Amino acid sequence: MAQDPASVESDARPTVLVIGMGDTGVLTAGHLSRHCRVIGVTTKPVLVSGQELGLRLTEHAQWRRNYLIPLAHYRRLSRVEVIHGRAVRIDPLAQTASLELASGEQRSLIWDYLVIASGVSNGFWRDDRLDTYGVIDSRLASQRAAVTSANSIAVVGGGPSGTSAAFNLKRAHPDKSVTLFFPGEDPLPGYPQSTRRYHRELLARQGVALHGGHRAVVPDGLATSDWTGGRLEFEGGQTSSQADLIIWAAGRLKPHTDFLPTEMLNAAGFVRTDACLNVEGYARIFAIGDVAATDPLRCSARNWAYKVLCRNLLAKIKQRPLPARFTPPPHRWGSIVGPQPTGLRLHTSKGKSHALPRWLMEWLLYPLVVRRFIYGGVRSKERASLVRDSGSVDDQGR
Ligand SMILES: Cc1cc2nc3c(=O)[nH]c(=O)nc-3n(C[C@H](O)[C@H](O)[C@H](O)COP(=O)(O)OP(=O)(O)OC[C@H]3O[C@@H](n4cnc5c(N)ncnc54)[C@H](O)[C@@H]3O)c2cc1C
Repeated sequence: MAQDPASVESDARPTVLVIGMGDTGVLTAGHLSRHCRVIGVTTKPVLVSGQELGLRLTEHAQWRRNYLIPLAHYRRLSRVEVIHGRAVRIDPLAQTASLELASGEQRSLIWDYLVIASGVSNGFWRDDRLDTYGVIDSRLASQRAAVTSANSIAVVGGGPSGTSAAFNLKRAHPDKSVTLFFPGEDPLPGYPQSTRRYHRELLARQGVALHGGHRAVVPDGLATSDWTGGRLEFEGGQTSSQADLIIWAAGRLKPHTDFLPTEMLNAAGFVRTDACLNVEGYARIFAIGDVAATDPLRCSARNWAYKVLCRNLLAKIKQRPLPARFTPPPHRWGSIVGPQPTGLRLHTSKGKSHALPRWLMEWLLYPLVVRRFIYGGVRSKERASLVRDSGSVDDQGR
């Protein structure tokens, strides 16, 4: 396997390899590309955001506009070499990465700096499969079809994803029975108490049947990414429950770190990351997002952590002290049930909430704040070659 610094013409700038082009990889690669040569390795030729699960299952067209975007449409990524493939091994001493490409070939890259942004597997909506756009699209269609044909839906797990799924499913399909099972008294552990109480009442008002104190047993051999119906049993011995469709949102996260040396990982398999977002013991390696063990909530996908990482990595290149620190908030925050016909409610880490009217969300928040300011501009319909290297996959996955 030949080692290849990059396939683009020679460039004196340091090469930064970003592994994983999900929510944080896209932001980090785009920002660094103004200063360095950046290569992004991605299992998917589109950003398939893990955000807004409820919207994804119910208002699919609206979800796609903001959360399923071909990488070639991000203006800032036009300076990034995007490779459709998966990192299978990195060697921190030799500063190389071995890749398995979507074309089936192998490739080895040399990097000067590495950013690990490979995320976690979570339920059915986040994974590290090497997929084309076509496969992603047909999977989304079959999930929507399963929702449509089910009369009863059980959602297992009271985190933001389970809460959002249960609320939105019941709002969109008032005739279906929607049940939410979660272990505690209120959903949303990690959020301020007032946010938890607010959502318990919201779910109940919407008609979701709430079953607190119910920890479901994951049947042997079942992957929580499976889409099936069946009977749920509970660890506490409560009466079992039958549903046409069971959505597992039980937080059984699996970090995507198989390609990393075990010395880089904590006992749970997440990347040991300090407040500078530097991987502990590896001066040239940084980590961000759900895979990075920065704090108990692992919340560096949010809270502007990509800016901290970019400042520190650029300082490292200039051999200066790292200037920025990631300070996680004590509680989770954000929108839980996502955009609604009336607007968007944002919950702060202190337990307060603010409602944004729908017009503000549609005219200001998504187009200007998110797309233009945070992501640096997203082209709408342009087709662009995604994988310059293999030349075989464009933004429609052909
Ligand atoms: C602007 C913004 C707003 C947010 N708002 C909210 C909110 O309101 N509420 C909320 O709950 N959360 C919010 N989040 C957080 C979000 O829910 C998740 O935390 C986020 O999706 C995790 O991003 P990630 O990049 O770590 O992982 P992912 O987005 O999952 O990306 C990881 C990618 O790496 C790929 N990958 C895995 N292994 C490999 C490999 N070996 N080689 C190559 N690629 C690989 C995966 O397939 C995936 O495509 C927000 C995040 C952002 C950026």
